[in-house]
Amino acid sequence: MVLNAKENLITKLKMKSITKNDKDPMGHAISEYYKKGKAAKLRVFSSQFYEDEIPVKTLFRKLDEMPMPEQMALDLSRGRVLDVGAGSGCHSLELMKRGMEVTAIDISELSVEVMRERGVDARVINFFDQTFNEKFDTILMAMNGIGIVGKVENLPNFFARIKDLLADGGQVLLDSSDIRYVFENEDGSFDINLNGGYYGEIDYTMQYRSIKGEEFDWLYIDFDTLSMYAEKYGFKCEKCINGEHYDYLARLSY
Ligand code: SAH
Repeated sequence: MVLNAKENLITKLKMKSITKNDKDPMGHAISEYYKKGKAAKLRVFSSQFYEDEIPVKTLFRKLDEMPMPEQMALDLSRGRVLDVGAGSGCHSLELMKRGMEVTAIDISELSVEVMRERGVDARVINFFDQTFNEKFDTILMAMNGIGIVGKVENLPNFFARIKDLLADGGQVLLDSSDIRYVFENEDGSFDINLNGGYYGEIDYTMQYRSIKGEEFDWLYIDFDTLSMYAEKYGFKCEKCINGEHYDYLARLSY
């Protein structure tokens, strides 16, 4: 697949490279939790939602604390695995326990440092960096890992990247959610601006103690929209399981 000039330009403009330490609230939260066994609040802001919080402990979840779609993604993983946006490395470590060969990538230097200390082959690499072109049998994108695509307009670039990174017969395992329910009113109507972008395109900013991150785009995608794009870019898209709260696990292959 060849990207046209406009798609390439969009990609270049939107590509976050590596997160600087002083702009990396989640990395600091992960690092502090790893060192001290506890952490402060990891605060999440969005122009579309009220302030929220990510309990840092959940970033260190064990197998039995993982939602079903994530557990299933681990069970379906095979061959050489790439854990994309791996955070604290919780999925990588579980796969390593099962004797699998795993490489973890993340744009947070602090998170990569923690993963290395935990014994993971972790590298500071941006998924969209085309100079990274090794081959994997499974690409794992857990905890809405496809969020890094940011906006639907960047999906062509996502499919181009997974085509580059997948070995013959390889698969992508990703979980995401249909967040339509967030915009639903009590009478069943929806507060969705039909002239706006896709409703799963969210802007976020995070803060940990006094460390504020830069705003970033994060995409939640419903299964039908993902399937439609997957087909357009030559991929097969299967639903493996529904989660408990509008979430699902999908498998992409081609
Ligand atoms: N997968 C982990 C962490 C999820 S948080 C878990 O399930 O617990 C999302 C992670 O993606 C963060 O650690 C963030 O630094 C990383 N990330 C964001 N954009 C990225 C990109 N373009 N390439 C690689 N990692 C990215």
